[in-house]
Amino acid sequence: MDLVEAFEPVRAELEELLPDGAIVLDAHTHLGRDEDGQSLDLAALIAFLDQISPAARAVTFALHDPERVPAYQIPNDRVLAWAAESNGRLYPYCRLDPGQDPVREAQRCLALGARGIKLHPRAQAFGFGNAAAEWIWRAAQEANVPILIHAGRGMPPMDSLAELALGYPDVVLVLAHAAIADQGLFASRLADHPNVLYDTATFSVFDQLELFARVPVERIVFASDVPYGRPVGALYAALRIAAYAGLGEGETRALVGGTMLDVLEGRPLAKPQAPRVPEIRPTSGRLARINAYVLMAFAAALGSGPPPDFGRGLPFIAMARAACRDPDPGPAGPALERIDKLLSAAELLLAAGGKQLRDAAGLVMAAGVIAATEPFVRQSTSPDPRGGGLATSHQAEPPVRHASRSGTWS
Ligand SMILES: [Zn+2]
Repeated sequence: MDLVEAFEPVRAELEELLPDGAIVLDAHTHLGRDEDGQSLDLAALIAFLDQISPAARAVTFALHDPERVPAYQIPNDRVLAWAAESNGRLYPYCRLDPGQDPVREAQRCLALGARGIKLHPRAQAFGFGNAAAEWIWRAAQEANVPILIHAGRGMPPMDSLAELALGYPDVVLVLAHAAIADQGLFASRLADHPNVLYDTATFSVFDQLELFARVPVERIVFASDVPYGRPVGALYAALRIAAYAGLGEGETRALVGGTMLDVLEGRPLAKPQAPRVPEIRPTSGRLARINAYVLMAFAAALGSGPPPDFGRGLPFIAMARAACRDPDPGPAGPALERIDKLLSAAELLLAAGGKQLRDAAGLVMAAGVIAATEPFVRQSTSPDPRGGGLATSHQAEPPVRHASRSGTWS
């Protein structure tokens, strides 16, 4: 089984869903080395972006670099130099340690071309209700640059960040990882903040879907967190969710890059509308089972690391495939078939081991994305004469109720 061949159906759908000529700008990528063993150099990041298109761009900043003392100067200088070599495809941010003269380092980097500030309150072990945080916000306000903050795994409650953000409504704040550290809190407390954005770089597609249910799409930006995620896989998820949400072409363009480009070029954000995904969503029990196994496969892989051992997911991938083998699949039939093909390719690649392990995990991820975003309510066991399909809003019609599908759902 060849990896390129296995990804072909995903790539074909991605191309269909991506509006022609859309600017793709990944709002969260890294360059350099991390203490956890991850690393990425310029050529590798550009190669990942090239998997989307030779014009795809990214915001980029340092990892938790072993050479970060003092003040992240060495990794910041490397990122600035790499971005300068990227023919305009990379927008460098400076990473700051609030304990090490952060404003001086911010000003040094901004003068050298940094376009924003990255803070990682878990890695650098700091909070927001203090003077150092205020200085950083003031520096960002003066320079009119965004601040991106890790709001993902491993954080305590983040009320103090919400408070601080409310005090600086002009500073664009990008909450990374769909703000899963406190998604409900941010969505509610910062609902009227005019300049808060959420990036989509997170592991569970349900976290992303729920973000679209809580937050206006005008405030969501596509991101991968490569080397932890993959730009092409993250874009696929964003585009499937966009289709599921029934977004128009302009909204999809904004999501995949337009909104982030507005921020980087100093333009005001678009006026937010109501969130586009309903909070209560019809689903297929068949596909819910598959998602559970997909997440278990990843939990097994991640729990064995770092680095994750993706081979450990195999028993759960086998269970997901068992759920796909259904003589009475109901409306989930076409999705089950697509998912099974991806999982079968992933099984072969994982069993073969070697360098393709991480990419095989991408197939499993894509299978989970399909399972979570299949727009069921517009589909039936017979073909829809009006075309139907992903591009139409599932909110346009009342959901198909289980009870009305006599026999099919019993
Ligand atoms: Zn990151």
